[in-house]
Amino acid sequence: MKLRSVRGTHDIYGEDIEKYNIIENKVSKIAELNSFNKLETPIFEFTDLFAKPLGEQSDVVLKEMYSFKDRNEEMLTLRPEYTTPMIRAAITNNLLNELPLKIFGLGPMFRRERPQKGRYRQFNQINFEIFGTNDFMADLELIIIGNEILKSILPNSSFTLNLNTLGHKNNLNEYKIKLSNYFKDKKEKLSDESKEKIQTNPLRILDSKNENDILISNSAPTMQEFISLEEKNHFSEIKKGLDLLKIKYVENNKLVRGLDYYCSTVFEFKTSELGSQDTLLGGGRYDGLIGVLGGPDIPGIGWAAGIERISMLMKLNYNSLCKVHLAITDKKYNSHIQKIMNFLRKNNISFYWNYKYNIKKSLSKANSKKIEYVILIGENEFNNNYYSVRNLNTGKQSQLKESEIIKYLND
Ligand code: AMP
Repeated sequence: MKLRSVRGTHDIYGEDIEKYNIIENKVSKIAELNSFNKLETPIFEFTDLFAKPLGEQSDVVLKEMYSFKDRNEEMLTLRPEYTTPMIRAAITNNLLNELPLKIFGLGPMFRRERPQKGRYRQFNQINFEIFGTNDFMADLELIIIGNEILKSILPNSSFTLNLNTLGHKNNLNEYKIKLSNYFKDKKEKLSDESKEKIQTNPLRILDSKNENDILISNSAPTMQEFISLEEKNHFSEIKKGLDLLKIKYVENNKLVRGLDYYCSTVFEFKTSELGSQDTLLGGGRYDGLIGVLGGPDIPGIGWAAGIERISMLMKLNYNSLCKVHLAITDKKYNSHIQKIMNFLRKNNISFYWNYKYNIKKSLSKANSKKIEYVILIGENEFNNNYYSVRNLNTGKQSQLKESEIIKYLND
């Protein structure tokens, strides 16, 4: 059998793992600054956790979940998204006694989608959630944190914040019925994919990319009349907050979201640099969901961002991935290289050696890596207990005692 990885999965190594680590670090720092605590959940849960809340007729539940029977006949599912496991964890660990609860997490999700650029079957997400408040300040805070994270990781990329409100969940249900009826009359003209959504998820027809669907959607009843004054005020407070901070946004009344549980504020950060898989980060309110899952009837809001998509836009700037390269001419001087390695380790200076007892072979590697200094060890260095240190930027070489090295490397 030919060895291969499963379609839609990918290994993370080299530059990608460096990017992954940078993203994880920045996210953790920003989370800490904003007092969000980390919560990691298992990658599988009981299937029931997802089926109902995500919508039994949603694409994710119908076609994309990796579900399997455990040996004791219980149905399990690899998590396709993070909000429901976060809520499950908050309920089962009694974390909802003190509200609001602000949490974040990071890790792999699984969806059996058609793989393409920016779309995988196992991918990694960053997730931020706030449970227990319907204050517009929570919506604002999450959008600002999302913006902050993207800006700090992608300072040279352009992305656009799209905003919409779907109104209160009860009104949204009325609107969905009206929309269903409208599309039912036009059924014959809709794409096959949209036909399937008339009964189950008519909102998704509004963001179809099919030309006929778009034409029909253009004359569909709009959400506006179903949005209460209270919801309109909530939405305009968010916009005012963004204006105050000069965070640009576009109002996009076609923005719905893939999963059934969303209502009220929804938002997405989109980029024009990635082709069709253009959403970097998406989220919104899910008032009612925590109650549906068996928790108290408290509101919630959150977002998820795709690490792979962020990574694709990221440019690494190699400052000093590995500060020092070691080179030695002969095995006889081994104790000298051991000493300097130990010294560098203790002083937190990154170094690399490839077990070659030949300067030329050692250095051929040094050129392909971003390295600032070479420490050379030969007969003289060994006999007189010093090191020859070459600065690769200037080409200058100096003979230094161990105690002089740190100052030299940091100058
Ligand atoms: P969603 O949970 O569908 O709202 O997705 C949130 C974010 O996760 C998206 O904006 C993407 O950045 C990322 N994402 C979703 N699905 C995939 C996938 N199949 N492959 C890679 N990234 C994904």
